[in-house]
Amino acid sequence: MEEAIRSISDPELLSQIERVVPFHGYLSTGVFVGIQIFNIARRTLGFPEGERLFVTCETFSCMPDAFQVLGGCTIGNGRLRIEDRGKMAATISRRALQGTTRVKGVRIVLDPAKTASYPRLHSWYMNIKKVPHEKAISDLIRAGDGIYTCEIVDVEMPEKSKKRIAVCGDCGESFVLLEDERLCRSCAERSS
Ligand SMILES: [Zn+2]
Repeated sequence: MEEAIRSISDPELLSQIERVVPFHGYLSTGVFVGIQIFNIARRTLGFPEGERLFVTCETFSCMPDAFQVLGGCTIGNGRLRIEDRGKMAATISRRALQGTTRVKGVRIVLDPAKTASYPRLHSWYMNIKKVPHEKAISDLIRAGDGIYTCEIVDVEMPEKSKKRIAVCGDCGESFVLLEDERLCRSCAERSS
C-alpha cells in the first residue's frame, strides 16, 4: 500500500486517507472510491469544509465510512441514508433552503464502461479475480475523476414529521408508530 500512497501528491487527499483509515480499519478499495466520490461532489457542488451535507449511498460496503468521516454524515444524525442497490454510487447534496424540500445534488457512479480501460481495477470491480487493494487503489489514483460518471439530480429531503410513540399491546415495549398499529413490528411479525 505504501507505494500507492507515495504516488499521491495532493496533501488534502493524504490527510483524508489518514482520517478515514482508523475509522474503517484499513484502506480498502471501496472506501477509497468513497473518498474520490466525496471529492468529486465537493468540486461539482462547490461546498466548503464543514458544510451540512446529505448522502444517499447505494451500498453498505466500505463507501459509507468515507462519507461518515469526511462529510460528518452518519446513520445516527440522519444525513447518511443507505439505499442498498449493490452499486458503487452515491448522491450528495447540501440541505434544502428553508421552506423547500427539494435541492440539487449530484449522483456519482463508478462507471464500468470507464474502468474497462484499467484491467486490474476493472477485474476488482467486476469481481473477475482477486486483485490486491494496493493494485486497485493505484489504478484509482492514476485514473482520478476519469472513471466516474456524474449527473445533477433533484434530491427530495425527507420532511420531519412529529414522532408518535405507543406501547405495544403484546410485549409492553414502546415504539415509534408508522400508522396506528397496535403491535410493535417484532410482535406483528411474530403473530403473522
Ligand atoms: Zn411488541
